[in-house]
Amino acid sequence: MLRDEWGRMLITAWNRAGWMAAPARVGARIGRLVGAAPGTITMGDTLSVKIFQALAAGLALRPGRRVVLSDSGNFPTDLYMAQGLLRMLRQGHELRIVPPEAVAGALSDEVAALLLTHVDYRTGRMHDMAGLTRAARDAGAVAIWDLAHSAGAVPVDLAGSGAEFAAGCTYKYLNGGPGAPAFIYVRPDLADTIEPALAGWLGHAAPFAFEPDYRPAPGVERMRVGTPPVLQMAVLDAALDVWDGVAMADIRARSVALSERFVAGVAAACPALTLASPPDPVARGSQVSFRHENGYAIIQALIARGVIGDFRAPDILRFGIAPLYVGTAEIDRAIDALAEVMARAAWDRPEFHARAAVT
Ligand SMILES: *Cc1c(COP(=O)(O)O)cnc(C)c1O
Repeated sequence: MLRDEWGRMLITAWNRAGWMAAPARVGARIGRLVGAAPGTITMGDTLSVKIFQALAAGLALRPGRRVVLSDSGNFPTDLYMAQGLLRMLRQGHELRIVPPEAVAGALSDEVAALLLTHVDYRTGRMHDMAGLTRAARDAGAVAIWDLAHSAGAVPVDLAGSGAEFAAGCTYKYLNGGPGAPAFIYVRPDLADTIEPALAGWLGHAAPFAFEPDYRPAPGVERMRVGTPPVLQMAVLDAALDVWDGVAMADIRARSVALSERFVAGVAAACPALTLASPPDPVARGSQVSFRHENGYAIIQALIARGVIGDFRAPDILRFGIAPLYVGTAEIDRAIDALAEVMARAAWDRPEFHARAAVT
């Protein structure tokens, strides 16, 4: 791609190598993994931007309502983007944040949009997407789902759920690499009517007519903004090859088996670690988290042993179980490494306590 397309075709590759059509083509590949039909997903920007676009479009669909409902397990950028948008709108909207288990009960005729992350980034707790989307519809609210920890991790039936909007990043379970473009889904019956808040030229009906006034492109393509990240999209496109022929139901079965093995192994070998994830795999995504007050240093000690997990403040040790390429031998190795680090307090060394900028 770098040599032949970028190197030799130069700008002709926008047509000859299909760069301009890549967001729709790659979006359809992701759609297969999240239950969305071709033509309902486009790619670009980052997830934060896509959340902003989805929420702006969602609020415009419910002009008489003033509440955005979310939960305290949501990822901060989703809440920040909502806060920034509501401040900019100056229409008296309120962001209402309730505990995850209180979401269904907090839906009311005040709620314009339900903005939730499907799988909690810290604990892996998974919302009932179909049930909450139905409850939102019954309350007259639009449903917007963040699928950052769902795409490629758990089966998702976007079309079947009836959700109005969804968005996700592609650098977690989909392996698009840091900075890979995000995806956004718009329910097809709405896609021709929503008015994009970020009216960029590549979401225009005729970008190369260079008209002075914005006219939205048909369908979800209007959620494109500017020039797509062509190099990152090529990386993502290649990363998606490993999903060809893979059924999400098989991924889920393997994910549950590996997660259960990890939970049981750690419980037996590391009594000082408390399970932070739901013990019932039905209520959990494809990650397992534990709590410990020295979680940061423990993760650093594990990384030094070749087992790479995340620390999430204040005390969460998070392990992503990616069943497409993680097997039982690696799960067992991770358990052994964790057991050794805990039994000998091997984490308690100055170099493991030094906080880096990215945890
Ligand atoms: C990772 C993640 C993001 C990140 O957003 P970017 O704009 O891609 O940096 C947003 N939301 C959730 C739930 C995430 O887990």
